[in-house]
Amino acid sequence: MKLYNTLTRTRDEFTTHEPGVCRMYTCGPTVYHFAHIGNLRTYIMEDVLEKYLRYTGLDVKRCMNITDVGHLTSDADTGEDKMLKGARREHKTVMEIARFYTDAFFADCKKLNIRIPDTVVPATSKIDDFIQMVEVLIEKGYAYLSGGNVYFDTSKLDNYYVFGNQEAEDLAVGVREGVEADEAKRSKTDFVLWFTKSKFEDQELKWESPWGLGYPGWHIECSAISVSALGEYLDLHCGGIDNAFPHHTNEIAQSEAYLGHPWCPQWFHVLHLNTTSGKMSKSSGEFLTVSLLEEKGYDPMVYRLFCLGSHYRKSLVFSWEGMDSTKTAYGKLVSRIAALDPDAKEATDPDAEKQTAQALRARFAEAMDNDLNTALAVTALYDVLKAKIGDRTKLALIGEFDSVLSLNLLEAAAKLREQNRAAEAAKKAADQTAELAVVCRSPEVDPETAAEVERLIRERADAKKAKNFADADAIREKLSAMGVTLKDGKNTVEWTKE
Ligand SMILES: [Zn+2]
Repeated sequence: MKLYNTLTRTRDEFTTHEPGVCRMYTCGPTVYHFAHIGNLRTYIMEDVLEKYLRYTGLDVKRCMNITDVGHLTSDADTGEDKMLKGARREHKTVMEIARFYTDAFFADCKKLNIRIPDTVVPATSKIDDFIQMVEVLIEKGYAYLSGGNVYFDTSKLDNYYVFGNQEAEDLAVGVREGVEADEAKRSKTDFVLWFTKSKFEDQELKWESPWGLGYPGWHIECSAISVSALGEYLDLHCGGIDNAFPHHTNEIAQSEAYLGHPWCPQWFHVLHLNTTSGKMSKSSGEFLTVSLLEEKGYDPMVYRLFCLGSHYRKSLVFSWEGMDSTKTAYGKLVSRIAALDPDAKEATDPDAEKQTAQALRARFAEAMDNDLNTALAVTALYDVLKAKIGDRTKLALIGEFDSVLSLNLLEAAAKLREQNRAAEAAKKAADQTAELAVVCRSPEVDPETAAEVERLIRERADAKKAKNFADADAIREKLSAMGVTLKDGKNTVEWTKE
């Protein structure tokens, strides 16, 4: 598999330190607020990557941290503590905030079919490991104490800007935040490993350390958690592109100084999700969450497909129009799969069928091996639908590919098949009993709306029966204003909602 590597700035053949095993680290969320769907794009693409690596036979050992202390609003050592900001906003303790938003993050992951990594480590559970790593860094001469804090000494490195020359960007960070330079730092690029001189008098969480009561810097947690959970050699490190600098740059500085050898050869970064007016963030513009998408009538799978439809190394522009067309595409895809017969007869020429299936698998793998081209991998699903093979083989292949893409395709199709069957049965029964059957053909409509639509349809039928046509028409118009289209049958009314 070829994957773009931010470190070498080329597409490299993906290999692992230990054959057959992939050690993968993911920077987890800072749990001070709901995740917006831009953050979740990164987790969706990392999830597909992990599942594809498993699909190719690798034993993936994946670890993710949960940042519940030390992350300042600027990503560098300036601004205020994000957790503290969240706690103040909601008049809760930092740990209450952490627990609430960790659960919320996992709930979002579940809705989006994002597999939770095997090892999830909250930063506050590993303070001893951070202290031990900082002690070694001081011992080795890579860190110094100044003004009460412990800093990493970036002048000790041959190449601090490992991802390219971010010097200009680095300077811009300082300007943007409009903060005073930290006088205790020997060099501008040095960063805090351990705070004892808290800028925040009300800092809630503090721990004893050899340098006094304090708390860790943000970057140290990923280095220490990764080394303790996955060992000295990492195969793959993932995150959003905004993590590359300074966070990942600092992680590499700490880990390699601590270990004394190269740490992770492959860096996978997902680009931003933008709105039409710019980068999506929690502080500006519409705050888009999974719950909001659901409120607006979008299945979270539609957002997942929206993300998979675009390459992870391109900025993706979010729009409601884009979501609408993806919703239509998802609905059509599910209907086509639902039309396949799971009880179809065996193939007449099993060898030819096997060959075609292999060719389809190769097409899917080729797309994924080509720097995780998920958009092309999705089209492999349509190739399966079009192929001249039996329905059972098609369903098996779709299930196989969807073990990576995780679009819930077989489940959604089975549900639709069941609904269609129930609707047919209801129509048949209505024909026999002459009682009106109301059949919903828009399975995504929520039960409350569906009940209201059915009530109105029955009211209209009663009005018609009583020859009260003005009322019947008025109800039809009301339904039409709700986006409901009716199709009258003999004893049935079928309806769809846009
Ligand atoms: Zn990290």
